[in-house]
Amino acid sequence: MSNGQHRLTRTGRVTRLGVVIGVVLTVLPLRPPAALAEGDLQIAAEAVYTIDPDAGHLQISVHYTLTNRKPNSGGYRYYYNTFALVLPDNAVEVTARGPNGALYFSDQVEDLGDGSEGRVVTVSTGSFFYNQSRDFTLSFALPSGPPRSDDTTRINLAYTSFAAFAWGDPGLSDVEVRVPGDFVVDSYGSEVRQRRLDGEIIFTGTAIDDPDEWYIIITGRRDDHLVSQTVEVGGLLVEILSWPGDEDWGDRVAAVLERGVPELRVLVGLDYEHLPSLRVIESIDPALRGYAGWYIASENLIEMSEHLDDHVILHELSHLWFNRDLFVERWINEGLADTYADRAVDEIDGDTDPVYGTATQPVSSLESAVRLNQWRTPTISPAVDEAVAARESYGYNASYWVMRALLRDVGEEGMTRVLEAALANVTAYAGEGDPETVSEADDWRRFLDLLAELGGSEDAERLFRDHVIADAQKVLLNDRAAARERYFAHVDTAADWATPWSIRGPMSEWKFADATLAIDTGDSLLVVRGDLRGVAETLGLSLPPSLEAGYEVAGDQAALESALQLGQAQLDSLTTVEMARNAVDAPRGFFTKIGLIGENPEVEWTEASDRFEADDREGAVVEANDVMTLIAGASDVGQMRVVWASSAFGGLVLAGGGTWFLIRRRRRPAVPAESGDFGDGMELIGEPAVEPGGSPRGEIDS
Ligand SMILES: [Zn+2]
Repeated sequence: MSNGQHRLTRTGRVTRLGVVIGVVLTVLPLRPPAALAEGDLQIAAEAVYTIDPDAGHLQISVHYTLTNRKPNSGGYRYYYNTFALVLPDNAVEVTARGPNGALYFSDQVEDLGDGSEGRVVTVSTGSFFYNQSRDFTLSFALPSGPPRSDDTTRINLAYTSFAAFAWGDPGLSDVEVRVPGDFVVDSYGSEVRQRRLDGEIIFTGTAIDDPDEWYIIITGRRDDHLVSQTVEVGGLLVEILSWPGDEDWGDRVAAVLERGVPELRVLVGLDYEHLPSLRVIESIDPALRGYAGWYIASENLIEMSEHLDDHVILHELSHLWFNRDLFVERWINEGLADTYADRAVDEIDGDTDPVYGTATQPVSSLESAVRLNQWRTPTISPAVDEAVAARESYGYNASYWVMRALLRDVGEEGMTRVLEAALANVTAYAGEGDPETVSEADDWRRFLDLLAELGGSEDAERLFRDHVIADAQKVLLNDRAAARERYFAHVDTAADWATPWSIRGPMSEWKFADATLAIDTGDSLLVVRGDLRGVAETLGLSLPPSLEAGYEVAGDQAALESALQLGQAQLDSLTTVEMARNAVDAPRGFFTKIGLIGENPEVEWTEASDRFEADDREGAVVEANDVMTLIAGASDVGQMRVVWASSAFGGLVLAGGGTWFLIRRRRRPAVPAESGDFGDGMELIGEPAVEPGGSPRGEIDS
């Protein structure tokens, strides 16, 4: 699977679970009495996030500098004396410390003023007046959320994921996040600076302009702390790595994998033995980005959400087959993954959210709709962008729905043939021998051809028009349909002759103009073949095999044209042989017969036809021309013989029918004389001097 490059193929699945990354802490307005200031409190906040993997805690410490910016007026001096925040319900170890020690605070559930209740911590700062400030540090810890809980904070020895937010006013908020240096970290969200210092990885955002919008999500992995178990499925070793304390996850994944992967293999019909090994790692990372898991082909790695669902597990595992090695378009691989996961869940009687078993007919008029061959992995996480999330949902559902329809259309065996050919990168337009190799990057065009040619699909083109391709690409399908009509007519005509790559190649590559040109040439060649066959049949000859061979092995247009020229040359040669045949068969006049005494045109012609059958086109023409010359010249020869015989031995001949003295005109010895009747002189007596319908003195037969 891995092509050796560090290519990250991230395929994922929209999770149905909500991902909470809103600001969890807000500043409450200070409450009356009237003498207290309202508004005009400047808040500078330096927040520091650290993790305690041993305790499973996220530590948050915020150093506040509060400044009263409400001027005195109307005889009042305005002051502040408390500061209230809403903390998460599960916050523990809350402390507030000023420069001189601990500060008093209350910590209770209160009405938040919007009809909801929340945990409010109110810190007593002591009174501070116009342009006076107070400093204090509020600290608390957030325990890791348990696996498969809605709380997205995870802190354990092997894995960490949490969100950090800004706490102060625009331009007065700093955030620092510290992670132990042996974690492999990733961050996304707002822009931060990352550096290493004293064995820690530190992310910082300073003077944050938009604290209400600002967030970062940190994920960190320390794989040597994962709990490992290895299972073997049909020769494939799979290491399953779960978080310490969540061995349930590993056990469930192992069980589904051991039963489900063999089922997938049977259903898909393709082996996976080319994979050296596979790792499946528990991670909340995909869920934070809006997916249930993903397959990183270059690393033979599946990262899977902690949320356990057999369909999701088998979907991700099916990407062992359904990845860029198979098809380059996302919709094909995702549609196959869902369709085959669904089938495998049925086979193992698996446990899945019913929502994964359904795909609804895509509505292409939706705002979230996307033509499937343009559905790409988004650069923005669907977890943070509703439009992206809607498009992802549309893409997964539509791919699933279309693929189900295609599987119904071609059947599982048909789909296996399609997948085999896609994996082997062989043409859909197979000829007589092993199918030729085509480009490795298989897209919707290859898929459509394979479905049609190897799957026998009747529905694929319509489904592709409706859901897969852009309007502008529909003209391609029209070109394809026209070329295919010509192609199949040609294949029919060629019958037992195998259509060459010079025609099938451009068809495979969707070069329909080239294909049509090649078919034109091929059609001309088959017309020549028809002519050749007609003449050869009349003459009782067989055709040399070179034309069929030349046609079948023609790998490109030039070779096909050469084959056509060969056919034309054969036809020219055979036409000459036919003319010679006609000359041999033509009725002969008196003098011609005399001239041919001792000659054997039949044998001469057989020599010509033998040469044609032996594919000696030029030799055949020479021989055939000789035959025709012989016959054409025979009348003159005959006349000379008659004149000579009359003057020298005429009486003898006429009276006794004696022996001709023959001069062999030609080289051929020991051939039986043509069975003319000239051995018997009596027969000559009755011959008319003028042949019927001919001119006087005999004719040169032609
Ligand atoms: Zn997937």
